[in-house]
Amino acid sequence: MNEIKKIEWKTLTGKKVTVTVGLKITKALGCMVTVRPEIEGISTDIGSGNPRRVSGLTNNCVATIGKLALNEENCKKVEDAIEDIKQQPAWIKEQEQIKAAQKTEKEAYANKKANGFCPRCQSYCFGDCQGQR
Ligand SMILES: [Zn+2]
Repeated sequence: MNEIKKIEWKTLTGKKVTVTVGLKITKALGCMVTVRPEIEGISTDIGSGNPRRVSGLTNNCVATIGKLALNEENCKKVEDAIEDIKQQPAWIKEQEQIKAAQKTEKEAYANKKANGFCPRCQSYCFGDCQGQR
């Protein structure tokens, strides 16, 4: 975890809510954006992850993170923090690497196809499998 943003607010009943947005970098999995909410006085795990927009919540809430409900203002703050975290060089670099890998894979496949590889039977049948039906 190298970059952290904290968003804080108070619920209608005065409980302090803290949502910590961070960028976790692991060797095995690469970069991950983590979103972890905490509510003052609640020690049980209320879940984590990106805010999920849902309808039908009370008190003008528009989204949830685990069991935490968020109104539009706070949801936007968390979403903005996630976008900010994604401006980190480590995240951008990884996205570029993923894109480059996908491009290479696509090109390799297009090249295979041009050389007679058949997507239908997954072999170099040069289209024979369909021609001999
Ligand atoms: Zn074939």
